[in-house]
Amino acid sequence: NDKIRIGIAGHGNLGRGVEKAITQNLDMELIGIFTRRDPAHIQPLTAGVPVHALADVEKFRDGIDVMILCGGSKSDLPEQGPALAALFNTVDSFDTHAKIPGYFEAVDAAAKAGNNTAMIAIGWDPGLFSINRLYGEAVLPVGETYSFWGAGVSQGHSDALRRVPGVKSAVQYTVPLEKAMELARSGSRPQLTTREKHRRECYVVLAEGADAEAVRRAIVTMPDYFADYDTEVDFVSEDELKTQHSAMPHGGFVIRSGVSGSEVKQTLEFRLALGSNPEFTSSVLVAYARAVMRMRRMGDIGAKTAFDVAPGLLSPKSAADLRKELL
Ligand code: NDP
Repeated sequence: NDKIRIGIAGHGNLGRGVEKAITQNLDMELIGIFTRRDPAHIQPLTAGVPVHALADVEKFRDGIDVMILCGGSKSDLPEQGPALAALFNTVDSFDTHAKIPGYFEAVDAAAKAGNNTAMIAIGWDPGLFSINRLYGEAVLPVGETYSFWGAGVSQGHSDALRRVPGVKSAVQYTVPLEKAMELARSGSRPQLTTREKHRRECYVVLAEGADAEAVRRAIVTMPDYFADYDTEVDFVSEDELKTQHSAMPHGGFVIRSGVSGSEVKQTLEFRLALGSNPEFTSSVLVAYARAVMRMRRMGDIGAKTAFDVAPGLLSPKSAADLRKELL
């Protein structure tokens, strides 16, 4: 049995998605799930897979090739990323863009001390979008890069809505503006403002006795989150929120608009249309677990990002098969 032995740290949306993704990757085997909660209360989707306390994870060092970290970026990964990279080869989806350089340093030191390979900031953004931004810039050095997100649920903005006094529950969709995407594709290379690129749609359930107009005003004027956008607030019933707004679709576009040598317009575009953001992100994490394992075997230790991975390392196919089938 030479399957890649996978562990999952954290059983939320991504953790469950990784479980499902592993069933589609026949060269992998799920060894165990690790959680901070009482393991007896976690219901794995995979029959027969044990759930352990994360506190005991060190005991499993020899039985796991790659630990896939499924904790949240805000407070779980800053702690779990370095701690687990000291013990295992890891992959994570750290997505707080502004904090990636500091996180990289912390994970790199831990991974090198433990002689492990630790892939950070994997998923679609950061992740597949980052790679496409890089391709665009490298191939068309004279040009502009545009990233559009959505239509999709933003977890961070939904959380911000739920913190507004008078809000019982809420979901926020980020919606790219068609006109801005047309301009980005046109080759005219406009500078687009935040407000010109996306709008925000909020579906809000009011708490008992809350003043709808006051809640709306508090939302649309919230700095950083909503003030710089055209924001629409719709008040809905709890039932409607649950039935109409509990899926987690997402996606978006990376567009590079540039010119080649004789000022000819050239456009590179990458699109994702995701029925489930967490399931797709999990699928990306699992493919990168394969690359991590191979890079570790080649002695390439320390923290890595998507930029450091040769594409062929992601595929279960051999290099010879890839040359025959996909080149
Ligand atoms: P969740 O909130 O579902 O899970 C995060 C952690 O919370 C879990 O690992 C789990 O840890 C704990 N948890 C989960 N459910 C419960 C519960 N009911 N009660 C108590 N604790 C719970 O987050 P997601 O899986 O949706 O997302 C994780 C991160 O993925 C996000 O923070 C985001 O930054 C990142 N992400 C990155 C993307 C990219 O493209 N790079 C795209 C999408 C997401 P434990 O089992 O130890 O308790």
